[in-house]
Amino acid sequence: MDTKKYRFETRQIHAGLDPNIENGSRGVGIYPTAAYRFRSCDYAAKLFELSEPGNIYTRLQNPTTSAYEERIAALYGGVGALALASGMSAILITITALAKQGDNIVASPYLYGGTYNQFRISLRNLGIEVRIAQSEEPEAFAALCDENTKALYVESMGNPTCAVLDLEGLAAVAKEKDIPFVVDNTFGAAGYLCNPFDWGANIVVDSATKWINGHGTAMGGVIVDGGNYNWANGKFPQIDGPSEGYHELNFYETFGSAAFIVKCRVDGLRDFGCCPSPFDAYLMMIGLETLSLRVKQEVETTWRLAEYCRKHPKVERVSFVGFEDHPSYANAKKYYRFGSSAVFTVELKGTLESTVRFVEAQQLAAHMTMIGDSITVITHPASTTHKQLSEADLKAAGVTPTLLRISAGLEHADDLIEDFERAFACVE
Ligand SMILES: *Cc1c(COP(=O)(O)O)cnc(C)c1O
Repeated sequence: MDTKKYRFETRQIHAGLDPNIENGSRGVGIYPTAAYRFRSCDYAAKLFELSEPGNIYTRLQNPTTSAYEERIAALYGGVGALALASGMSAILITITALAKQGDNIVASPYLYGGTYNQFRISLRNLGIEVRIAQSEEPEAFAALCDENTKALYVESMGNPTCAVLDLEGLAAVAKEKDIPFVVDNTFGAAGYLCNPFDWGANIVVDSATKWINGHGTAMGGVIVDGGNYNWANGKFPQIDGPSEGYHELNFYETFGSAAFIVKCRVDGLRDFGCCPSPFDAYLMMIGLETLSLRVKQEVETTWRLAEYCRKHPKVERVSFVGFEDHPSYANAKKYYRFGSSAVFTVELKGTLESTVRFVEAQQLAAHMTMIGDSITVITHPASTTHKQLSEADLKAAGVTPTLLRISAGLEHADDLIEDFERAFACVE
């Protein structure tokens, strides 16, 4: 169904549904199958040489997953989407489709910890160098580019600092250097809060584990192709050139503006295998149907909680991108629908021990490393995600012993505030 004319709220429900399904099913079927019976040898041969679209094997495609991918592509306004088993695999498949041994990419200094490790260690071990910009200024990214640079990489809102960079300025650098601009838009919630394609991105990745699923019930990641990059500039022979894996087929000549996302599927998934399960794809589709409602409510609750914490005498500091004192306030206002996402950090007065008491006194907020869940999540980096770091590295990452990251869920804000009040009373 072509849903382009509809608004986000309508697309999140209707895109990907097949109105012609014979049994009249309102929902999307879950196809728990690994393989597909070919109707003839000739048909099978056409599928394998990519001259006809169709299902071969669930590592490459599955009807449930295809419906979900269609919905994601419609929400972002991309030419195609690819679903993967996790956000980390979406990033890996994207970068390895763009860069090979000897190439480099230039990335933001404000990255999710998992991404930072993939870039710094695993990609380096594959021979792909990741150059981290010295500052968030577009010039700092430009300064690191050379003839082997194959992408600029940023998060539309950094996890966990909530840094929002100058997306348009960075898109201009990518354009000038003639390389794709890749944006991790996990915090932008499937394009509802922020759609990087509106600001010059060429490729988007999104950890579907977070707001897309929205209920903490499955892992997933997506890649979305904006279809707006000219691959015929000589920099990407693996896309505009004879393909080694498909009898010299040229992805760009054959698939045009969708060349990148096709390559990610038929090379990336074929070779690395990080496909989602059809059941998880189904859960993501259900999650998407209420995404805008959930996220809007979560952002509203974030404002209430952040304002409550800011006034509390036992709080040292609140860092919320919706507040004017946050360094990314202006960019968030420009690029994010409500000027913020649903995450903030709070630094308590007191010690590591009193902060642990505060966390353990919570009855509603769950102590986990998670964001975008319908349960409010409270994370204590010093005792969890950042426990391995030295004191100096903690300082550089802005993590103090009393820092907490909060991702607002869907409970009533008054109940959360009353629970916080009770937890504060436990830490004298
Ligand atoms: C969680 C997260 C990821 C990784 O996604 P997984 O689904 O956990 O693999 C990547 N980027 C950002 C910004 C994230 O928050």
